[in-house]
Amino acid sequence: MNNTRPRFKRVVLKLSGEALMGELSYGVSPAKLAEVAEEIIALGALRVQVVVVVGGGNIFRGLRSDQYGVGRVAGDHMGMLATVINSIALGQAIRAAGAAVCVMSAFDIKQVAETYTVEAAEARLVRGEIVVAGGGTGNPFFTTDTAAVLRAAELGADVVLKATKVDGVYDDDPIVNPSARRFDSITYREVMDRGLKVMDQTAVSLAMERRIPIMVFALSSRGSMAGIIAGEPIGSLIAGEER
Ligand code: UDP
Repeated sequence: MNNTRPRFKRVVLKLSGEALMGELSYGVSPAKLAEVAEEIIALGALRVQVVVVVGGGNIFRGLRSDQYGVGRVAGDHMGMLATVINSIALGQAIRAAGAAVCVMSAFDIKQVAETYTVEAAEARLVRGEIVVAGGGTGNPFFTTDTAAVLRAAELGADVVLKATKVDGVYDDDPIVNPSARRFDSITYREVMDRGLKVMDQTAVSLAMERRIPIMVFALSSRGSMAGIIAGEPIGSLIAGEER
C-alpha cells in the first residue's frame, strides 16, 4: 500500500463530546483538546481538507430532556448548543496550535460562530482552513453522527472518520463482552440489520444512500487518523457490498 500519497482529499471527522472530556466526568479537558487539535492539524499537513463535526454528549443530550423537565425539542436545542460550546473550545485549541480554523454553526448564532452554508464551508476548505461544523444538523431528533454524514454528503467528502473508544466495529460492546468479534470491514446493511450501536441508523442509512465510507477507529491511539490517511490497516470500514 502506498504510504506517502493521501488516499482521501477531504474528510469529515466525527468526534463525540465525550472524546473531548479526557479523564473528566463533564465538560472539556484542555489537555485532550490540545491533543486532538494536534492530530487534526497533522491531517492538514498531509494536504487533507478536514471538516470536524463535534457532539455534545459531554454536556447535554436531548434524550435526557425528561430528567430535566424540558420537552424533547427544547432538550435537543440544548444538545445542539452543547455541540457549539464544544466546537468553540476545539476551534480555540486548533487556533492555539497554529492552524487556520473556522467554527461554524448549523443555526444562526452570528455573534458566536459563522452560520454554516455549503458555499462558506467549501470556500474555507479550499483556502486550507479546518472547518469545525457545530450545531449538528440544526434540527431536533437528529444526532451529530447524522450531521457528520450530511456534511460529508453535501461537501463531497471521501470518507467519514468516526472516532470511538474502541478500535473498530464489534458485534457486541467489547468493553462489556471481551469475546466480542471485531470486523475489519462490514456493510452498511449488516450494521443496520445487526442493530450495531456504532452509529445511529439514520446516519448509516444516509451514508449507504450516498455511498460514503465510514472508518471507525480509536481516538485514544495517537497518530491513528494520519495512519488511516496513509493507508495503514487501522479501524473498521463500513461500506457497500461491492467493497
Ligand atoms: N442534536 C440534535 N440535532 C442534531 C444533532 C444533535 O438535536 O442534528 C442534539 C441531541 O439532543 C443530541 C445532542 O444534540 O443528544 C448531542 O449530540 P450527540 O448526541 O450526537 O453527541 P455525541 O453523543 O456525539 O457527543
